[in-house]
Amino acid sequence: MGVLTTRRGVIETPVFMPVGTAGTVKGIRFEALESAELDARIILGNTYHLWLRPGIETIKACGGLHEFIGWERAMLTDSGGFQVWSLGALRKITEEGTEFRSHVDGALCFLSPEISMEVQEALDAEIAMAFDECAPGKATNEEARRSMELTLRWAKRSKKAFEKLQSVRTASGSDRFVAEESRADPQAGGTPALPLGQALFGIVQGAGHFDLRRESLERTVEIGFDGYAIGGLSVGEEKSVMLDVIEDVAPRMPADKPRYLMGVGTPEDLIEAVARGVDMFDCVLPTRNGRNGQAFTSRGKLNIKNAQYVVDQQPLDEDCGCSVCHRHSRAFLRHLYLSGEMLGGILLTHHNLAFFLDTMRRVRQAIRSGQFANFRREYTEQIGSGWG
Ligand SMILES: [Zn+2]
Repeated sequence: MGVLTTRRGVIETPVFMPVGTAGTVKGIRFEALESAELDARIILGNTYHLWLRPGIETIKACGGLHEFIGWERAMLTDSGGFQVWSLGALRKITEEGTEFRSHVDGALCFLSPEISMEVQEALDAEIAMAFDECAPGKATNEEARRSMELTLRWAKRSKKAFEKLQSVRTASGSDRFVAEESRADPQAGGTPALPLGQALFGIVQGAGHFDLRRESLERTVEIGFDGYAIGGLSVGEEKSVMLDVIEDVAPRMPADKPRYLMGVGTPEDLIEAVARGVDMFDCVLPTRNGRNGQAFTSRGKLNIKNAQYVVDQQPLDEDCGCSVCHRHSRAFLRHLYLSGEMLGGILLTHHNLAFFLDTMRRVRQAIRSGQFANFRREYTEQIGSGWG
């Protein structure tokens, strides 16, 4: 277990980061994210979505992303690479960058390492990500190598552009956090802190090929970043391949820098990745599945639309301490969902985020008390047991 010190607060790891695609974690208010019940210390913003709408000029004019959305805690922005990659046939990748059609208005757009860094600098999250290219989960070694080499060239360009932008900020004195750095107590250290400007993380690619993953990690570390992420998992490969890649790569990642697994996964996946050495996670599952009527519980997934819950007076999860489980029954939540009431998605999202964040809190406690192996076994057994 570790502590990640950012300019906007301290984050205990392992940590789960709710995804705030368009500057909002869908279906939940910021007050709830900040409450003691959820206590999300860091959320994600998606560069691709925010860049297309409302656009960087608008966000800049509103004082940056934190100011614009009213969130004072830490944020991480992705590079836009993955979203553009997910557009599939609508995009064209060249050495220079990626050309694609906007999903908003069909306009032809172009994203490159340099543009991604410019956008992320303007968004001003605590952590920015290098612009990468993702190979499909079942890519051949040759395809995955081509993609990995491109990602490495883009990583170098990302770092160069990022450093230039950061030095302009420092020189112009426009970064209040860097100004505060000079007043920081040099004795207060002890935990590795991220830079008080923005931090930049590099991304390891290589699909399901261990030789490529190792080479990608080695060469990304050579370029040098503030943290390292494993990208390109949960994109169509078998789950066993995903866990094997994490098991092989995570322990080789620099021990003094955060290790971030991008876009994964279920609560069971998070526990398995923590066991293999990962510190940071993000995933849309708790929010997206919540909107689609699915709850994550201590005994596995529960689909609220099922007829078996029509007069079920129990909470979603009797072992969950969240405010939704305190107040509402499965029967009511099912009624809301089937009636298309927006509160249905809101309540399921709230419970799901509470469940993910509480799972990570329990992981940290278990690690602290030297009980993680027991915790992992019991949690996994229980989650597979179902509600019968
Ligand atoms: Zn709950």
